[in-house]
Amino acid sequence: MPNLRPSPITPTVDFDADGVQHGFLRLPYSRDDSAWGSVMIPVCVIRNGEGPTALLTGGNHGDEYEGPLALYDLARTLDPNDVTGTVIIVPAMNYPAFRAGTRTSPIDNGNMNRSFPGRPDGTVTEKIADYFQRHLLPRADIVLDFHSGGKTLDFLPFCAAHVLPDKEQERKAFAAVAAFSAPYSMRMIEIDTVGMYDTAAEEMGKVFVTTELGGGGTSRAETVRVARRGTLNVLRHAGIVAGAVETQPTRWLDMPSGDCFSFAEDDGLIETMIDLGESVEAGQVVARIHPVGHTGGAPQEIHAKMSGVLAARHFPGLVKAGDCAAVLAVVE
Ligand SMILES: [Zn+2]
Repeated sequence: MPNLRPSPITPTVDFDADGVQHGFLRLPYSRDDSAWGSVMIPVCVIRNGEGPTALLTGGNHGDEYEGPLALYDLARTLDPNDVTGTVIIVPAMNYPAFRAGTRTSPIDNGNMNRSFPGRPDGTVTEKIADYFQRHLLPRADIVLDFHSGGKTLDFLPFCAAHVLPDKEQERKAFAAVAAFSAPYSMRMIEIDTVGMYDTAAEEMGKVFVTTELGGGGTSRAETVRVARRGTLNVLRHAGIVAGAVETQPTRWLDMPSGDCFSFAEDDGLIETMIDLGESVEAGQVVARIHPVGHTGGAPQEIHAKMSGVLAARHFPGLVKAGDCAAVLAVVE
């Protein structure tokens, strides 16, 4: 680990003080319209004495809304008398992206979930990542990071954790996924783990839980309900909020290999041949990509490389070569 300079971020809250504090992670950002300006990332700390610490984040990607909806709400309503330990809530982690309604930051094009461990002397996004890496993650016992599909994917609503080399850490993560009680629970693999917040938390030995709760650049009433219930369930499971976990039926899904992912090889108009949650057999056509530059061309057919259910699909209508077109998962 190189000897890094201090983070430029100053919190306006005291993470070790009891009670409810609403404040900011203030990140200096000098620019044309504000010479000595700052990015003000909202943060809430709810603490009641000694106990475990939960770090709850939404808006890691700026166009995913279930997490921010659940977490702004929790910050407003959670009574510290109902808490043992500490809850740190950052509803919009990549706040510039969240305000722009985009996946990545309009300031530096930074994708928060590819920017870890970050840099204290890097771009705005890298500076936020560095603050989480060196100041917030080390405080946490359990980390819940909300995602959805954003503007270009749509998912079955699931809570997920990763298969890990440390089997005890993995067991704890999947116990928290079970407590979340989303309609689906996923044993998840990633296309590319480098730079992910997930990886940073897991390599620090934290219990890390994530979600994909829908997508399309919006939220639905049902997926927001899932996010709210799941957040409280994870806090109950961690012993931070009193009361029993309100379990709901869940279907466990597994992503056994990279064969889950299908990518478009042409630009065009995508036609998904099955809907989310429907079953496919290996070899079946899951999507067709119709050429649009001329008439008379045959569509590119995307065949399932394995049997399973459709867990995610491209959204909405047009795709480019290289886009993720479909994700399959196996029902356990
Ligand atoms: Zn995301």
